[in-house]
Amino acid sequence: MAQKHKLVAGNWKLNGGLAANAALLGALEAVAGVEVAVCPPFPYLAQAASLLKGVALGAQSVSEFQSGAYTGEVSAEMLAELGCKFAIVGHSERRALFGEDEASVGRKTAAALRAGLVPIVCVGESLAEREAGQASAVIRRQLDAVRTVVGTPAFARLEIAYEPVWAIGTGRAATAAQAQEVHADIRRWLGEQGADAKAVRILYGGSVKADNAAELFGMPDVDGGLIGGAALVAQDFMAICRAAVAQGA
Ligand code: PEP
Repeated sequence: MAQKHKLVAGNWKLNGGLAANAALLGALEAVAGVEVAVCPPFPYLAQAASLLKGVALGAQSVSEFQSGAYTGEVSAEMLAELGCKFAIVGHSERRALFGEDEASVGRKTAAALRAGLVPIVCVGESLAEREAGQASAVIRRQLDAVRTVVGTPAFARLEIAYEPVWAIGTGRAATAAQAQEVHADIRRWLGEQGADAKAVRILYGGSVKADNAAELFGMPDVDGGLIGGAALVAQDFMAICRAAVAQGA
């Protein structure tokens, strides 16, 4: 990464409640030299928007539709109106548990961009795919599905999160070397598409904790992190944010 600060985004998943959120949000603060964001469940976005200071807001998913007869969906425009800057798209839990396929991840990315949100596009291989030597092919296919819908220039307006499925919520993070290898490959793919590869932030996600963040963020192609479990504990999340500062842009 050349100029941008690293980005550390917390994905709260299906966790929280008004009282617990107030305590957690109240303990988060801006950290100079790193961009910090939190992504609470939809019903708590307004609460978070009212309590956050110097920390950006994001959503965990977004509808591909703008309005109409789509019961249960939340549009990108609604998220923007609530103060969201980011929207996570294509998280592996959404792909695996809620039937989001590669084409719909592309359409959700387009919907987020249309509303002026910054999509955080998640990609990553399963353990079986890694063991079969298919990690690069899988990730390139996932990225290609997004590129097909939004086009190469749009990659200047989004973030990519490499999240190996086997590392999410397992306590088994990728090693710094494993993360770097994939991030470098994603950057190569960006260059092959004609994108300004250095200008795109590539986050790592999967069991990032206060004690492994510095090593992961120290890799040349790791531009920040998408944090699940550790984002629910203010002290841990803040420590991860500070680790990102220490490792520079
Ligand atoms: C995630 O859900 O995006 C994630 C990275 O979770 P965890 O940090 O808990 O592995």
